[in-house]
Amino acid sequence: MIKIDLHMHSSWSDGEQTIPEMLNAAEVCGLEQVAITDHFRKNTKFKISDYRKAIDKLREVYPFEILIGVELEWNIDEKVDYLSSNDRSLLDLCLCELMGDLVFRPEVARYEQERQEKTKFLATVFDTYCKIAQHPHVDIIAHPFNFGRMELDFDFDLNCLSRERLYELAELMRQNDVAYELQSQFYYWYPKMRVPELLAQQIAVAKIFKDAGVRFSVGSDAHNLGTVGNHCWSESVLAGLGNNVEIIKRGVLSCA
Ligand SMILES: [Zn+2]
Repeated sequence: MIKIDLHMHSSWSDGEQTIPEMLNAAEVCGLEQVAITDHFRKNTKFKISDYRKAIDKLREVYPFEILIGVELEWNIDEKVDYLSSNDRSLLDLCLCELMGDLVFRPEVARYEQERQEKTKFLATVFDTYCKIAQHPHVDIIAHPFNFGRMELDFDFDLNCLSRERLYELAELMRQNDVAYELQSQFYYWYPKMRVPELLAQQIAVAKIFKDAGVRFSVGSDAHNLGTVGNHCWSESVLAGLGNNVEIIKRGVLSCA
């Protein structure tokens, strides 16, 4: 059983519960290491120093390791530089998700082309993930390829991803020590797919990253108590990759 959860949200961003409530849930689940990773986006109002202080106080209270993290959102024009290097130094880890005004917001001019042209969409996705993998802020790519809920004019699933570009991305992630997140509620992003098919596709993709020597991280992306520590999906992916123990250990990021 996986005893870590490196992706959890609280009421500091869009989570339903406070940080102590989320930590209580982690304690009930018998977790040994967790990361609070609230969204930190361009318009986020809270100060990283206040966030750190709030979590630091709780570190003495709970019997497991608590990492202080955020989940950044990559903006195609501004990257993630809205988080200063000084604030970055106050954090143990940074997740980065590919959402926002790359292809996901209709008000952005480039959206229509991405939405209509599969080749353009896939090229943009890979080009952007390659940039994320090389950004010094980033430790973990959150739920990679979580695009099954987008309103695209073409069919998309993980089989559409070019093996060649997956190898390229995996190599960049290995070189920069950026982990691939096995998000435990990844199936949320593909509501139209049956579980066995999506699982087989994710195992095939994850195998490329494993073979390239990329580390895996496991997180629930919990936005409420109910999903903390529920790693059934990630455990199935790791079982599909074989050699569970080694990969789980390597997924535990040490607190710098
Ligand atoms: Zn998240």
